[in-house]
Amino acid sequence: MAHKVVVVGSSVAGIRTAQALKAEGNADVTVIGEEAEWPYDRPPLSKQLLAGTWGHDRIALLTEADAAAAGIELRLGVAATGLDTAARRVKLADGNVVGYDTLVIATGLSARPSPWQPESGLHLLRTLADSTDLKQNLVPGASVVVIGGGFIGAEAAAAARAAGCEVALVDPVEVPMARVAGPVLGALVSQVHARHGVDTRFGVGVCSVTGAAGDLTVALDDGTQLQAATVVVGIGATPNVEWLADSGLTIDNGVVCDEYLAAVGVPGVYAVGDVARWPHPGLGTLVRSEHWTNATDQARCAAGNITRPEARVPYQPSDYVWSDQYDWKLQLIGRPLTGGQEVLVGDLEAQRPQAALLHADAEGRMCAAAVVNWPKALLQCRRMIAEGASLDQAQERLAVPPRT
Ligand SMILES: Cc1cc2nc3c(=O)[nH]c(=O)nc-3n(C[C@H](O)[C@H](O)[C@H](O)COP(=O)(O)OP(=O)(O)OC[C@H]3O[C@@H](n4cnc5c(N)ncnc54)[C@H](O)[C@@H]3O)c2cc1C
Repeated sequence: MAHKVVVVGSSVAGIRTAQALKAEGNADVTVIGEEAEWPYDRPPLSKQLLAGTWGHDRIALLTEADAAAAGIELRLGVAATGLDTAARRVKLADGNVVGYDTLVIATGLSARPSPWQPESGLHLLRTLADSTDLKQNLVPGASVVVIGGGFIGAEAAAAARAAGCEVALVDPVEVPMARVAGPVLGALVSQVHARHGVDTRFGVGVCSVTGAAGDLTVALDDGTQLQAATVVVGIGATPNVEWLADSGLTIDNGVVCDEYLAAVGVPGVYAVGDVARWPHPGLGTLVRSEHWTNATDQARCAAGNITRPEARVPYQPSDYVWSDQYDWKLQLIGRPLTGGQEVLVGDLEAQRPQAALLHADAEGRMCAAAVVNWPKALLQCRRMIAEGASLDQAQERLAVPPRT
């Protein structure tokens, strides 16, 4: 009999795992997904889909024909509600139970709930339904307050501006993007919003959101009151692990895994994507990534380790992240290390800068880069990080782009 793999979670990590399992071996693969929608990709939800430049047809992760051809069984619209690791069985919300030889947990994240609850008009942004609902409110002239200046909030603000809305972006941190892009590029990205007509309120917290759709008041802790028709709250996300209570798995801000992405302490279980927490080889600590490329890379790695248990390979993260805001593309690769050096290549002063901020470890070897509007440099940085190039070599090799 074929090895039976059950994948719980029908988003990018789950679907790419299922596809890789089928491409690499002859496992019997079933994907269980809580969302009833056909599996779709999330990055366009805060970009092209929200701005109206793409329709739903562009975001499918696989077609029905792909699934049928690969022999992947999809059970959508039903959540996993419990896990019995001793009996190797997953309990479903519809009362059914599914047995497995290997289980892959790919249940990702849910948007962190809003601490403010007006009557209506408040939107989170994690699912296709969230994006579709929000888009209906992004009409020219509508006032929108976005709370949270991380990637998703910043992208929502940019999409709302593109749709002709009046937008305010609020975050208690002075330079919200510094969290991911570092202080220099973070400050630059923050300024881009102001340049595009966004009323940026950074370093200011939110006290309350009251009223109803079309007539909302956002009270800030500096005494300001912002009026809005629509409020978007993008304040992070939390791992979907409630269904794993009592399973015997180690749950600590995600499903704790070893370097092969196998869940710690329980045989026959792997975790991939945003829900997985695993030992990062460069950082020497457990990390959980909330980024698309990590989800697809882990899917490939876990599928290989399940298919070839005698030749398992530790997960090697590329740590690649991108964000599109207005006509800006921000790309990050690697992880800056404390105690390292930093060098800027390119021009940050131009209207639309093209630049790369290179990071090296304490020995001067490149370990990370943050690149603005210069995808070619990103590719070069990726190679140089893999080679362990020195900062001097990197500066020589990166041809400075012409000033625009
Ligand atoms: C709006 C938005 C924009 C983004 N933009 C970017 C970007 O530009 N660049 C980038 O690198 N990353 C981006 N990301 C992050 C990227 O989309 C995620 O890293 C990726 O979706 C993670 O995939 P995942 O499959 O691990 O988890 P998720 O996408 O969270 O999917 C988990 C799936 O599991 C399902 N599920 C949960 N619990 C259960 C259960 N008990 N039973 C069955 N099913 C369950 C959920 O319904 C969901 O379908 C963005 C994310 C969002 C929300």
